[in-house]
This record gives sequence, structure tokens and C-alpha cells, in this order.
Amino acid sequence: MYFDVVVAGGSVAGLICAREIARNKNSVLVIEEDYEIGTPEHCGGLVSTSGLEELGVIPFRKTLDHMVEQAEIYAPDGTSFTINSKKQRVAEISRRELDKQLAHQAQKNGATIKVRTSFQELTKDGIRTNEGQIECKIFVDARGVSSLIHRDRTGILSSAQYEIYADWITKGKVEVFFDQKKYPGFFAWIIPSGEGKGKVGVAGRGINAAEAMEEFLKKREKYSIVRKIFAPIWIKGPIEKFVDGMTVIIGDAAGQAKPTTAGGIYSSGMGGLLAGQAISKFLKTNNHSDLDEYQKRWTDKFGKEFERQSFARKVLERLDNETINNLFKSVTPEITKEISEKDDFDFHTGSIVKLLGVKGSIKTAQTLISGEFKKLLS
Ligand SMILES: Cc1cc2nc3c(=O)[nH]c(=O)nc-3n(C[C@H](O)[C@H](O)[C@H](O)COP(=O)(O)OP(=O)(O)OC[C@H]3O[C@@H](n4cnc5c(N)ncnc54)[C@H](O)[C@@H]3O)c2cc1C
Repeated sequence: MYFDVVVAGGSVAGLICAREIARNKNSVLVIEEDYEIGTPEHCGGLVSTSGLEELGVIPFRKTLDHMVEQAEIYAPDGTSFTINSKKQRVAEISRRELDKQLAHQAQKNGATIKVRTSFQELTKDGIRTNEGQIECKIFVDARGVSSLIHRDRTGILSSAQYEIYADWITKGKVEVFFDQKKYPGFFAWIIPSGEGKGKVGVAGRGINAAEAMEEFLKKREKYSIVRKIFAPIWIKGPIEKFVDGMTVIIGDAAGQAKPTTAGGIYSSGMGGLLAGQAISKFLKTNNHSDLDEYQKRWTDKFGKEFERQSFARKVLERLDNETINNLFKSVTPEITKEISEKDDFDFHTGSIVKLLGVKGSIKTAQTLISGEFKKLLS
């Protein structure tokens, strides 16, 4: 069996990449090790509508659950502030349906998709799968964080996300909870998918995610858990080389999820899109520099922002609960208003700087990490 390109991983990055390659009349096969595209869903489903548009997706009615209108952010002592997110146009979508929609787009362009087929290793002329040998000119690794686990464990946090039915989940309102003891270097979250239902999650360095979830839910009133997932998330930013010979690495496998929140539908999806375009060009010209264009274009778009997000992460990792409590107490209505009006969901370090820069509260952090903090501001 021969295909110009074989993509391992039938999720957002792999499917968009295949769609672009097939659009240019090249033969492309997507292999997905799970038994169904979009399952198991391991995502909160928050994405900007502008990001979706850039990915070439107008969500079907069953893909788009609802729009997020506000986000309430809590400090460890319960102090909170609210950002009105209407202007950012952030949607909560069903990832299962989004991935299916992308698979349909790829298929309509001419790609072939096979489920229950897993990549095993590279061979001289292509790849080996559990179903045998497939020859190809280019192999695309879109296997998500599982591809990074073997490269580098230091950027991985464990997460748990439960789908929950409960009265305390409010449609349109995302909630984020910081606590460096319970979720070191990360946070807990509630992402509604409608009134009284949504996804509740935790992530943190070195935590037992199941125990942290138990602890989080202990303080809550009546609820039912209808689904549980446990998944690693990557917060260390892009890997060094996206293209290695005839192997092209895209999406979470290339570290293209945000270092602050590990959100990657948009940035990992863009990795797939830009790689698909570069591969199509290379298949016409056979000129390797066309393939290298992919990394350049992704870095031009996200490089600076991801560097800043990594610095913001370093700042967060070194703040203790007391500093976070003080920081939250200094957030004024003017600051939340400014963030509400100007924040960009996909490029959000401007808002983080505004929050960290509030009166006096960042002194401790500045002393701890003055060099890095200056870089974040620059
Ligand atoms: C709990 C959680 C919540 C999240 N919430 C959000 C959010 O709200 N918004 C957001 O933007 N992002 C979110 N993310 C991140 C987002 O899910 C990822 O950035 C995005 O799915 C990355 O897409 P991808 O195609 O690169 O990889 P993945 O979606 O991880 O897909 C990789 C695919 O490869 C397949 N695969 C693995 N190994 C093989 C193999 N050997 N052979 C064949 N196939 C293989 C897997 O089965 C999988 O389908 C969240 C992640 C987690 C874990």
C-alpha cells in the first residue's frame, strides 16, 4: 500500500493537515489508533470563534454547545474577580463533534481515514502499523502528547477532567481556581457545556489528579459524575525541530499547545494547517526548504506569544498562595474592565501582564524572578 503522506493521529492537527494535503490532490492516509474519531474526548472544548474560522471550520449546530460570557477567577482564599468575555467570542464546543466534522472535511477533499490502526515504527520506505507495512514519502506525527512522553517528561503535568451534572454549573460561566498547594503550577476549572452540566478538571505538577478531583468535589453540593478522563498535558512549549528528514511533527506532538493553559485546538490545529500546506508544496517541488517553511510560519505566528506564556508560567510556578491572595486583592474594577474589553483569548499575555503589574502586589514575584519578569514585560 502506498500513500504520498501517512498521518498518525486522527484528531484536530492530523485531520486538518490531511485535509490540506488532499485538497492539493495528493494521496493521504490518516491512521487513528482508537476505535472512533473524536473518542475518547479529552478536552474542555474552549476555543475562539476567530480561531475556528482560521482553521477553516464553521461549527455545525451540534458541534457548538454555547458561547462563554464570563470567567470568574479565584485565589486560594476565595477572593475572586470576573472577566466579561463576550467580546472575545469564546465558544464551548463538543470536541467529539468537531473532530468528526474535520474528518468529514478531510474525506470530502479525498483523504482516507482508518481507525483502530496504530503507528508502530518508521521503516526504510514508510511506516509499520499493527495492520502491516505502508509505504509513503512523508510521515506526519500527530499523536498528541503521547509522542512527547518518550522525548521529555519534564514538561508534562497530569490532569483529570470529569463530566458532571450539578446545579452549581452555570451556563456561560467558566470558573478557574488557583491554589499552589493543591494544583502546583496550574489550576482547577469548571467549563459549562450547558445549564447544570459541564467539565470539571484539575491539573498540576506531581499531583495525583484523581485525589485532587476528590478534594475539589468534597466541598460541592449534590452532583453526578457521568464520565471521567485522565490525560497528560504539555506545558513546555514547542519542540526544537518540527521537521526531521521526511518526518513532520504537528500539533501537541510538536508542543504546540499554550504553555499557560495547555489549550491547543487553535495553535495545534494551525500546526496541522501550516504543515499540510508546506507538505503539499514540497510534493510539487521536491525542495526540502518548502517543508521547512512550516516551522518558520508557525513560529512567526505563535513563537513570541508562546515565549511570553512560558515566562508567565515561570512566574506562576514561583508564586506562593499568599502572594496570589494579595495579587487578587489588588485587582481593581478598572483592570478587569480593561481586560474584558481588550483581552485576546489566543494571545493573552497582555492580560497576564496587566494582572501581574497591579499595585505593589508583584514585588515578591519580581524579587524571585526579576530577570524573567522583565522579559515578560518586554
Ligand atoms: C483535560 C484537557 C482539557 C483540555 N481543554 C482544552 C480546551 O478547553 N481548549 C483547547 O484549545 N485545548 C484544550 N486541551 C488541549 C487539546 O485537547 C489539544 O491541544 C488538542 O487536542 C491537540 O490536538 P492534536 O491533534 O495535536 O492531538 P490529540 O488531540 O491529542 O490527538 C492525538 C491523536 O493521536 C492518536 N494516536 C496516539 N498514538 C497513536 C498511534 N501510535 N497511532 C495512531 N494514532 C495515535 C490518539 O488516539 C489521538 O486521537 C485540553 C486537553 C486536556 C487533556
